[in-house]
Amino acid sequence: MNVVKASHRIDPDAAPRSAPAVEPGRSFFDMDFWINCLGTPVLVVEEDALVVRAMNRSAGVMFRLGADISLPCPIDHLVGIEAARTLAQTWSVGRVGMIGEPILVRCQFGDHCRVMLVTIAPVVVDGTAMRLFTISESPPPGSVAIATWQENLLALLNWLPFGLEITNLADEAQFVNAHFHELFGFEQYELKTSEDWWRHAYPDPDYRRFARNLWEKSVEEARAENREMTPFELQVATKDGSRRTIQFRHRTLLDLHVNLFLDVTKERAYARELRRLADTDPLTGIMNRRRFFEEADRLFATSPDGHGNIAMLLLDIDHFKRINDNHGHGDGDIVLEEFTRRCREAIRRDDLFARLGGEEFVVLLPDASEREVREIGERVRAAIADAPFITGLASIPVTVSLGATLRRAGEFSVDAVVSRADRALYSAKANGRNRLDIEI
Ligand code: GH3
Ligand code: MG
Ligand code: MG
Repeated sequence: MNVVKASHRIDPDAAPRSAPAVEPGRSFFDMDFWINCLGTPVLVVEEDALVVRAMNRSAGVMFRLGADISLPCPIDHLVGIEAARTLAQTWSVGRVGMIGEPILVRCQFGDHCRVMLVTIAPVVVDGTAMRLFTISESPPPGSVAIATWQENLLALLNWLPFGLEITNLADEAQFVNAHFHELFGFEQYELKTSEDWWRHAYPDPDYRRFARNLWEKSVEEARAENREMTPFELQVATKDGSRRTIQFRHRTLLDLHVNLFLDVTKERAYARELRRLADTDPLTGIMNRRRFFEEADRLFATSPDGHGNIAMLLLDIDHFKRINDNHGHGDGDIVLEEFTRRCREAIRRDDLFARLGGEEFVVLLPDASEREVREIGERVRAAIADAPFITGLASIPVTVSLGATLRRAGEFSVDAVVSRADRALYSAKANGRNRLDIEI
């Protein structure tokens, strides 16, 4: 450290670290003069790094610093690491010019310890945001117990496994716990105003607008009804650029607004993966039977009633057992995969395509007339029959039989439509296979 002689005064060459605030405020020279007129110990501290830039004579005496003190100096050199941490976490980040709340801080001087009452006020000095710490050396009786309680509470809040932010009624951050910093990576000084938060957490302006509207509307409703906000989940950008899924919770308690940020990224990814596994046929990667009936029910419930606005094709590979018997189960599987690929190319993009089980498949065609379902069914039949399936060792001719039908007016049961398509499929098998039969 660069020791400057005889100064509780400001080293004029030491450039302030933080970006100049808009308002130039008073000068260091004035500040040094005024704080030395006061009998109470006063420190002038840089806002973002907790570095002491100036102190008055009373503070020098209190900290027993004598004449040789180098400034700037980190505040923990004066009060100890624990007190510095408490100060960093609890100081009021109220608007410049407002007096903050006094807090009790247990300060460590060498090997002895004292509880002090610190009042923190924001000031602007030479265009830089600073904090004025006014220290009362003789705090009221009971302060030690209160300071201990405060430390325990802080330890508890820091230990909570979710981000916690407490703001005042003007929505200015008063306290942010350790997990909040771990979660998002931003330091307290980077999030001085709620604007800073929105800008950092939502770099995309459109998503920011959406997130902010959702937040403000939800908070407003909750406050109007004096209840906890209905939780919601949104993506948030962290400092390292990664995105996390955060559950936002909010509640007003007395004169504090409490915001909770729960990281549910992993849980939601697991849930998505489970859902995908539950919905997908593992061999072909298309929808399975369970999901198909869910989607079909939805389509039946939402499309307008009327004859022929939904069509269905049931597909069953011909003599598939023989393919397994002649080429082995492995080749059978390859045929099923290739079969799926060819069908997918032959049908339309919005058609629902699923494997019902074994070598049986289904296509549900929204907005398809009898002519269209015949055309698409024929396209599928030809795509399978026209070229043999190559499995590596074998070239296997494959054909498929199809049963087609159309949903009837007033028909809301998917099962009824499946039964009719199944009858048509049975008829296609009976009539020689590799063909499409339709039952209207
Ligand atoms: P049909 O023309 O009358 O439909 O005759 P088929 O042989 O295709 O019909 P069947 O229902 O008798 O045989 C279906 C076969 O499909 C029997 C079963 O072993 C086989 N199979 C079912 N699931 C799979 C699978 O995942 N992989 C393989 N390789 N075979 C399967
Ligand atoms: Mg079958
Ligand atoms: Mg079959």
